[in-house]
Amino acid sequence: MSAAADPLTLITPYGGSLVDLVVSAEAGAELKAYANSLPSLQLSERAISDLELLATGAFSPLNRFMGRGDCQQVLDEMRLASGHIFPIPVTLPVEPNHQIRLDRDITLRDAKNELLAVMAVEEMYEWHLDEIAQKIYGTKDSRHPLIAEMHSWGKLNISGRLQILQLPRRYDFQDIRLTAAQTRAQLETFECANVVAFQTRNPLHRAHEELTKRAVREKNGVLFLHPVVGMTKVGDVDHYSRVRIYKALVERYYDRSRVLLSLLPLAMRLAGPREALWHALIRRNYGANFLIIGRDHASPGVNSKGEPFYGPYDAQELVGRFTGELGVGVVPFEELVYLPDEKRYEEISKVPPQTRTTSISGTEVRDAYLNNGQKLPSWFTRPEVAEILSDTYPPRHRQGVCVWFTGLSGAGKSTTAEVLTTLLAEHGRRVTLLDGDVVRTHLSKGLGFSKEDRDVNIRRIGFVAAEIVRHGGVAVCAAVSPYRPTRNDVRNMVGTERFVEVFVDTPLDVCERRDTKGMYAKARRGEIKDFTGIDDPYDPPLHAEITLNTVSHTPDQNARLILNHLIQRGFVRAASQIVAATPSKMVSA
Ligand code: ADP
Ligand code: ADP
Repeated sequence: MSAAADPLTLITPYGGSLVDLVVSAEAGAELKAYANSLPSLQLSERAISDLELLATGAFSPLNRFMGRGDCQQVLDEMRLASGHIFPIPVTLPVEPNHQIRLDRDITLRDAKNELLAVMAVEEMYEWHLDEIAQKIYGTKDSRHPLIAEMHSWGKLNISGRLQILQLPRRYDFQDIRLTAAQTRAQLETFECANVVAFQTRNPLHRAHEELTKRAVREKNGVLFLHPVVGMTKVGDVDHYSRVRIYKALVERYYDRSRVLLSLLPLAMRLAGPREALWHALIRRNYGANFLIIGRDHASPGVNSKGEPFYGPYDAQELVGRFTGELGVGVVPFEELVYLPDEKRYEEISKVPPQTRTTSISGTEVRDAYLNNGQKLPSWFTRPEVAEILSDTYPPRHRQGVCVWFTGLSGAGKSTTAEVLTTLLAEHGRRVTLLDGDVVRTHLSKGLGFSKEDRDVNIRRIGFVAAEIVRHGGVAVCAAVSPYRPTRNDVRNMVGTERFVEVFVDTPLDVCERRDTKGMYAKARRGEIKDFTGIDDPYDPPLHAEITLNTVSHTPDQNARLILNHLIQRGFVRAASQIVAATPSKMVSA
């Protein structure tokens, strides 16, 4: 099939027509009544995205979660059993469960138990993690985010006819959440058969703007800006900020008569080349006959040896091989660099020797600019984008952080935490102190000291700390927190880059001599049970960020050690920095 057969008609959907699984209103009412008598399956965020795209034909001709035959052929040949190209398994894994049985109907529901669909369970089959890892992702390295995630998936895949009663409800940016059919209707109004899709999960900087504009010029087409707003890579800029960026750019910097912005609720797999081919197939269903593919398309980052999972141009190469059959052409792009003397961007291989070039890496954007409160320069990004990014990423001294004290009862956690809290306030930070003993009088009232209760207590403190940190505050927590796995859980809840574990390493005999609350004496007499250090274990941290000695150092000295650590990491500004910053601001104002 030629990419642009008729200069005014969009490319047809893959397989001939768009799949549409949404049932009519009349049929829906009856089906709903029936659905309420069926067992339910609550879908993961990933399955909800897959369901939405299956329902609206983004994966045409696929019209259900894959059965065994489709899935196997996808693994081995990148094709469905029908022979159509399909590079990524779209499956519905479940835990074996007596409610889900072959030849029975079930309902599919979202996290809030809202009814989405009725599914006939026509197939149930086992899947094998290692096989998928190797064939789809080309690796067994669990640093690959999907391989890590797959460990928590149910062990059986189910498949069968789907009837969609309700698409997942989305409340944000409703005006630009377009299905494949709605997108096609809008693209048709441009009266141009060449539609060049751009896939992204990142903010758009000047280089991206430049390459999308070049691609559209080259193909004499319309730009279809189609960012992913479903699951991307953990740590990516949140989609709310990104979409505000795309909207600002489309309004100000693109030719409005040549661009369509709409959002794709895709749950990415980060499968590099195979994912790129999937992106091309999906975009064909939305009406695009070209896809821009640059370096490292759909890259999961680096593996456990620090090497990239895929070659930088593997994705271009794979999609290129299928272009004839799929009807979607690749617009390949090399990395663009800025030539400051000529004030323009150029592809890296076309830069004449001895020409000065500049670029800013993604890491530098975060570390050198945003975390330091520096605005990104205008040659690199539009001022509107720089503004949104600096709102989203305040400088590090206004970002949240959690200081977590752990150690035996009487080690000196509360005493040191209190001094630290005062010092942090003196340095301009807002602090919440969550002291184990105090928390037990309200948040955790009624919990005892069994292993279960202690874990619940620690997780509650961790949950509150994570919320405080998410909103840019400092949480100082002081609880015995004797069990290592629970502490590590809390670390993950907060995010390890904002978690400072402080091990108050006071020997048991010193704590026992201090015995401020008379607890050790009682524990020794057997009047209280399961007392940490006496008849219940304490797992010392293996990699605490800070270890304190309360025998050789006073509480004040120890609190200042922690303060200095926070200053060094940028979470607190040294007194001298605060003084220096004020006058220069006043001068410029
Ligand atoms: P925890 O919160 O770890 O149970 P506390 O801070 O409540 O411990 O109690 C520690 C006790 O040890 C306090 O009475 C404190 O005055 C005393 N202490 C003596 N030296 C130190 C020190 N260097 N750091 C912290 N506390 C100390
Ligand atoms: P945990 O991490 O064990 O939940 P918390 O800091 O919330 O620790 O509360 C522990 C405090 O409660 C200790 O400082 C101690 O004074 C008191 N406590 C009472 N009974 C026990 C016990 N069996 N084991 C440890 N601490 C106890």
